[in-house]
Parts: sequence; structure tokens; C-alpha cells
Amino acid sequence: MSDYERVARRLEGYGEVATELARSLIAIPALDPASGGDGEAKKAELVRELCTALGGVELEEHRAPDPRVSAGHRPNLIVRLPGRDRSRALVIMSHLDVVPAGDLKHWSSDPFTLRVEGGKLYGRGVEDNGQGLVSSLCLLRALREEQVVPPCDLALLFVADEETGNQHGIGYLLEHAAPFRPRDLIVVPDGGEPDGSMIEVAEKSILWVKVTVVGKQTHGSTPDRGVNAHAAAAQLIVALEELRARFDRSDPVFDPPVSTFEPTKLERGVENVNTIPGEHAFYLDCRVMPGYDLDEVLAFMRGKAAAVDAARGTRSEISVVQRQDAAPPTPVDAEVVLALRRAVKAVYGVEGKAMGIGGGTVAAQIRRKGFAAAVWARMDETMHGPNEYAILANLLGDAKVFAHVLLGPG
Ligand SMILES: [Zn+2]
Repeated sequence: MSDYERVARRLEGYGEVATELARSLIAIPALDPASGGDGEAKKAELVRELCTALGGVELEEHRAPDPRVSAGHRPNLIVRLPGRDRSRALVIMSHLDVVPAGDLKHWSSDPFTLRVEGGKLYGRGVEDNGQGLVSSLCLLRALREEQVVPPCDLALLFVADEETGNQHGIGYLLEHAAPFRPRDLIVVPDGGEPDGSMIEVAEKSILWVKVTVVGKQTHGSTPDRGVNAHAAAAQLIVALEELRARFDRSDPVFDPPVSTFEPTKLERGVENVNTIPGEHAFYLDCRVMPGYDLDEVLAFMRGKAAAVDAARGTRSEISVVQRQDAAPPTPVDAEVVLALRRAVKAVYGVEGKAMGIGGGTVAAQIRRKGFAAAVWARMDETMHGPNEYAILANLLGDAKVFAHVLLGPG
């Protein structure tokens, strides 16, 4: 029997192990100080104890100073099981922190007490990112119990501060430690599809802008005495549809496969019908394909606004509300993507598909430093909602997928 088969068989018997791990982890509400919590120190301590008890691992802790929490720091753990080739690793990165429970009346049970029902584990953080924590801890345990020395290192990263910006988490690690090496396979099990088919490799840039069009307010019966900001803004919204043609690169990795530029929020205008508004403000939510310079997108918008201003006598201003420039994508044929596809097929019988998304993930920080990282898990994505759950079979199945990536089919 191959190493993979032994570890996979061992994992199949871990239903109770995984449940108890999830129970003890979610009982420690590791909330960020920005959400009124006291950080991840207690939870990190538990993870450290669990790993130390398994033996045979090297453990590093990198503490990001943070005076807002009683421990004075935010913990980041790197747990390394040595392999035969010590120059590279399969790195699995999970985050310790969770978001607040939200309104308790929407929960069917206490969010920080595990509830098991119908093969599902319920609780705040049990999926996000408890699934990654539990499946990677189960993998480590199975390797130790089977006394398997993997072909390369297995490195488990347990980081802080994912939910509120990563500054004290992976951001800190990338600045103050060397968590990754060039040939590492990096998996972030913090997003996925219910069938496990999505291997997230790329993100669009995010650009939110506020457009303020200023005219001159006047009575509805005397438009010549004012400048109708509402009408000018409408013209500008239509003109901005040309963004799609100007930035029209497409890539089937994304769904939708093109950049999107959507007018969304509207600021309250005049209250009454018989006033011509002197000001109109709206927002655009733009998700731009990687490779485009957002400054060029902004310049194009400002050009359109200037043309409308010249035609109508308005003054328009475009300001950036949020901006995240896309990281370089992980290539669809990167080793980590190919290994995940083989593993997902072997374990779940599903064809894995490299995909891009329109929002940001923590993997972008890793990609920006030049490392190929893939976000993958098999999950229903109930994260951040009430009655968050993880499917027990997925916790164990995902651990098998990681085992397959690490050990190969054997
Ligand atoms: Zn998460």
C-alpha cells in the first residue's frame, strides 16, 4: 500500500477526531480587535499544543505587536513536518481569526458551541477558516500516526488577522519572516465551490469611485437659470459605458470573462419634483482584468467627465473610494494547480477548474510577492452568515486532497 493510501485510509477513520478538533477550536472566539475581540492568542496556543503533542515537527511563532489585545501581539504559527527534500514544501495556510456571530436571533444554536446535525458541523468559524485548520491538522496527525516522511516538507501556516486586513497576519509574516520558498506549493483552503471544482488562481482589480457632478440648482420651471446636474450625470453614466470597449480584454478563467464597470450607489438628491438638482453623486463598482493599469481607467473616466462638463457647463469630480490593484495571477499550469486537479479528481471524482474571481482574497498578498498560490476547498461558502456550517465529509476529503498533493498517488 502506498503512503498516500495509508494516510487516506487513516483519515477516513477521523470523523470523531475532526469533530472534536472543530469543537475545541470554535469554542475560542478569536475575534479581531477591530471587531471588539481579544485576538487569536488563546486559539494559537491550542493549535501549538495540538501540533507539539503529535511530535516530530518544527515550530516557529512570529508575533505581530498589537497593543489593542491583552496578549500584546497577534500570533502567526509555522508548523513544519520535515520531508526528505527539505528545500521545498507543500504549504497550507489557514487563518485563526473569525468574524463576529452577528445577530444571535438568526442562529439556531450558540455560535461558539459546536452543533452536529446531519453530517454538518455548525458554529461561527467552523467553515471560515475552521475547515482549513481542521483538515490540515488531520493531515498532520495522519502522517505522524502512519509515520510517513513526505517527499518534501509539509508546512502549516496558522495566521492572524485575515478578516480585517492581514496587516498582523500574512502581511506581517511576509515582511518579517520567510514563510515561502520559490518551489513551494501553496494552498489557501479559504474558498471554494460545493463540488470542489473551483481552483481560484486570479483576481480582478477592484476600483470603487464616487462621481460628483455639480451644476446649479434652480426651480423646475426655469431650467435656463440653472445647470441640471442630474441630466449631466445621466449623460456621463451612459458615456462611461464606453469603458467596456476601451478595456475589453477577456479571459475565460474569469466569470464573467471581462472587466465590469457598473454604476451602483446613488446619493440622495433633491426631495421635491419642482427643483432642478445642482448636484448629483453616484458610484461605480469596477472589477478590472489583471494587467490593466487602474490609473488608465481613472484617466479615461475623467476624460469622459470633462467632455460632459464642457457640453453642459457642469463640474465633475471623480474620487477613489476603494482601490485594490490585482496581483499577478497564478498560471493555470502552475504545479500547485496541476497537483490540485489530479488530487481533486482522485478524491472527489471532480474535474478541477482554474478560475478567477471578481473579489479579493488573501492569496493576492502571496502572489504579489511572486509566489504561485491557489485558493481551494470543497465548501458551501456559508461563511460570515448565521448558522455557518462545514460538512464533515469535506473536512476529511480535503485532508485527503492535501495528502494526495503532498505524497502523490504513490
Ligand atoms: Zn476566511
